[in-house]
Amino acid sequence: MKTVQQTIPASELPKPLDQLTESEIERKACIGKVMTYTLRNLTNKFVDSGFQWLLPVALSQSTDPLWPDPGASIEKRIEVDIYGHQVRTTASMIIHKLIASSLVYPKLFILSPNIRIEKAERAQTGKHIYEFTQLDFEVQNATSKDIFALVEDALIGLVSGLKCDMKSELTALCRCDALQVPKKGFKIYDKEDLEAEYGANWEAELASAIKDPVWVTNIPREFYDFEDFGTGKWDNYDLFLPQFGEVLSGAKREWEYSKIFKKIERDGVRKENYSLLIKLAKEGKIKPSAGAGIGIERLVGWIAGVRHIAETQPFPRVPGRVHQL
Ligand code: AMP
Ligand code: MG
Repeated sequence: MKTVQQTIPASELPKPLDQLTESEIERKACIGKVMTYTLRNLTNKFVDSGFQWLLPVALSQSTDPLWPDPGASIEKRIEVDIYGHQVRTTASMIIHKLIASSLVYPKLFILSPNIRIEKAERAQTGKHIYEFTQLDFEVQNATSKDIFALVEDALIGLVSGLKCDMKSELTALCRCDALQVPKKGFKIYDKEDLEAEYGANWEAELASAIKDPVWVTNIPREFYDFEDFGTGKWDNYDLFLPQFGEVLSGAKREWEYSKIFKKIERDGVRKENYSLLIKLAKEGKIKPSAGAGIGIERLVGWIAGVRHIAETQPFPRVPGRVHQL
């Protein structure tokens, strides 16, 4: 998400718990209930669909390069030395997912804390925080269409459940009417067509134009998303929510050694950080898969109608701001 969609005055950015007024505490508690409901609903859906729930890791040699992605805006990458090895804080668990889904867990999900020190100028977009949680999942041998069906079912189930069980919370947040249960079979757009129609600002324009969630496909980005070298098309996708924007990114993945190696070289990504993935791919042990990551704070932010997604965090992570907690 590269476009600044809105600018929230600095004085209105989410505050830490100890600075909230009484009415702000009530609102915070209400959003907290929507968060709890959402986490229970989605994790149940994944477990009931045969997924295994993996616990996350915070430090690894391999993490998401977040490059090349035109939407990335990272101010600082955190690397520390432990036991004589350089490790990085988790930017996403994509590499872990590719390896774990290939070797042991064919259907997996993780509630994964991601640390991305976003540039301080992103404080006011309302869509960026420097620590967030992805519901990150991967399915061996799945196609993009399989993932679309899974996510559409999950979103429809979640919104219908919320409208039934969280009526008073949604009413307090003035979201009862605004939040509509989407219909299955979300529209699919090609990024090239959106750029032709809306220009460089297509993300913001699309988010304000749509009334229902939509898929956007064919987005050039990191090496692990599947690229058809023949047509130049990428078999990947983002989910856009109406009046909000991107909430999920995912893809069918590369699994062939020669393509992974070529793309890592092409992107100028440090090979040594991905040596295990490269080795396993060379041995034919990386299996085809598809998956995605849902930004939990963005999803709950959309449901609750917040101005800034850090409102969904007990301990707000607004870019450029550091509080004691
Ligand atoms: P990505 O694969 O980088 O697009 O990340 C997956 C999802 O995580 C995105 O679709 C967003 O919902 C969420 N996300 C990414 N970056 C941030 C951020 N800085 N703050 C909050 N959520 C984010
Ligand atoms: Mg994305």
